[in-house]
Amino acid sequence: MVKCHYCEREAVVRLPYAKLNLCREHFAEYLLRKLERSVNRYKMFGKGSRVVVGVSGGKDSVTLTKLLSESGLAKMLVVHVNLAIGEYSRISVETVRRFSVEHGLDYLIVDLSEYGIGIPELVAKTKRSPCSVCGMVKRYVLNALTMDLGYDALATAHHGDDMAVYIVKSFLLQDYDQLYKISPVNYEVPGLAARKVKPLYEFYEFEVETFAKLYGLPFVSVKCPFKHVGWLESYVRELLDRAEEESPGFKVSLLRSHARRTMSMRSAEQAQPKACASCGLISSGTECSFCRFTRRALGQPMGLVVRRWIIGKAVAGETRQVSGDQPSSVG
Ligand SMILES: [Zn+2]
Ligand SMILES: [Zn+2]
Repeated sequence: MVKCHYCEREAVVRLPYAKLNLCREHFAEYLLRKLERSVNRYKMFGKGSRVVVGVSGGKDSVTLTKLLSESGLAKMLVVHVNLAIGEYSRISVETVRRFSVEHGLDYLIVDLSEYGIGIPELVAKTKRSPCSVCGMVKRYVLNALTMDLGYDALATAHHGDDMAVYIVKSFLLQDYDQLYKISPVNYEVPGLAARKVKPLYEFYEFEVETFAKLYGLPFVSVKCPFKHVGWLESYVRELLDRAEEESPGFKVSLLRSHARRTMSMRSAEQAQPKACASCGLISSGTECSFCRFTRRALGQPMGLVVRRWIIGKAVAGETRQVSGDQPSSVG
């Protein structure tokens, strides 16, 4: 039996980059400290901030939510955007609901299918890839919600393995605008864009997955039917996995160097922010990509419709579906 580095119990996980074998309890504690260090290192938000957490229901977002709630660093609102992708979305909505209720967390399910804003409908009317349409819709809704409900930051569960892949991929494509957007923190643009933070920026996917399983968190393991991984992304992922194997910790050093160099950079949109003529939120041109896209696909820009829906829910008190402030405990 391999023993835990800190106690007499059996180790259930090995972290090669830290040269540590840990038991279940010490692993949870290790991740909790890592989360707190990341939040502080990158100045994501101050203690007691109000943070919207975007939760898809996958292992990454439930782990982020669980760790954040354990840390007591922020007052959270769990938000799930129902993408209306058949069975996959039905399972996702139920998982997020169950998870939030079990943990006594305030949550809000954003369902825009009554306005025709479902991914299958939108995808049918465009040549863009489903993943890019989906990403754009989620980004828009979560930003609008964080702004309109007056939260301090929007947290998403992007982990280090994915971030490292996107950094190298953007570099290979020489897409510097995209490269500058990949950051543990994207600062707010007052009145136009919320602060966006990625507390799992330095987390490995295996840590996130192991935690979700060890603690029996409910998560969606069905893959989105639209999911498609391009050849370049697979190739870069393989390359980085090889590098990590040769030199444990490789990805985290890459992520840190990237953050050091780019955190002060601004994407074109942030450098010269404009307000969308239709909805008033951040835009790189006259109209934001969400309004432009929905105008083309549905005949009218839907930004303001989404914002009114959000404010309506807040006024109706539906962002407090369960009473919050009940701390839950790891165990
Ligand atoms: Zn231990
Ligand atoms: Zn707009």
